[in-house]
Amino acid sequence: MTGKLFIVATPIGNLNDITFRAVDVLKNVDIVLAEDTRHSKKLFTHFEITTPIRAFHEHNEREKTKAIIDEIHSGKSIALISDAGTPLISDPGYYLVAYAKKEGIDVTPIPGPSALITALSASGLASDSFTFFGFLPSKQTARVKFLQKLISSSETSIFYESPKRILATLTDMLSIFGSVREVCLAKELTKSFETIYTDKIPSLIEYLTTDPAHQKGEFVILISSDDKIDLMDAENKLDKLLPILCAEMGASKAAKLAAKITGIDKRHCYKKAIEV
Ligand code: SAM
Repeated sequence: MTGKLFIVATPIGNLNDITFRAVDVLKNVDIVLAEDTRHSKKLFTHFEITTPIRAFHEHNEREKTKAIIDEIHSGKSIALISDAGTPLISDPGYYLVAYAKKEGIDVTPIPGPSALITALSASGLASDSFTFFGFLPSKQTARVKFLQKLISSSETSIFYESPKRILATLTDMLSIFGSVREVCLAKELTKSFETIYTDKIPSLIEYLTTDPAHQKGEFVILISSDDKIDLMDAENKLDKLLPILCAEMGASKAAKLAAKITGIDKRHCYKKAIEV
């Protein structure tokens, strides 16, 4: 008789973002493990969840894991939640899940919000390939060294940052990436003061410094890749270029050349070329 371990995502601000399935699981498991029990009680009160809650956080994760695994082996079902979003994403749970998997325990994810995906989906930055780095180092020397490694990255880079360091981090980013790189500041997602601002770094610094209130709240920072093309600009270029090229050569050759010049995908250029 073995129970189950559920990894349950909870809202990152707006309580309506919880899923029906998450509420159902949280109501029906034997125990819920939560980072901050007082914080999670508010969520439980709102959704009338009466399941016992136990503290499980970065300081006691290793010490508690063995006993939790034993309880699951004895038939109990346990759910892990964090203060916000998806557990294990810059939050505790990795050690527990890895241990549970080794013990042959069924680990079931209950998906829901995560700040990084929420931010990426509305940032306007390339979403086909990205890397999430969690929190940046808090000390400036280490942060600068870390960011320098990303100068020629061909993917969108995503970070979590504390309001205490948001301005210092953007200032470091300006010195490393310069003033043409596009960056998105996604602040207070799903909450009343949600702001998703994508622009060059100097404009973002101006936004943060014009009003100290702008530096408050929870932040995700996204940096565009080095080779990010401005899609609108490239598409306009393509529209002008294709008729000229198609008058001189076949659609396939014209598309190949247009793709090289504009940075736009070859198949898309070909589709347009045969319509010229
Ligand atoms: N597990 C969470 C997730 O799935 O997104 C992340 C937990 S991590 C300890 C907390 C950090 O996530 C915050 O400092 C902030 O950088 C980011 N974050 C969480 N909620 C956010 C929100 N509503 N808006 C913007 N960033 C948020």
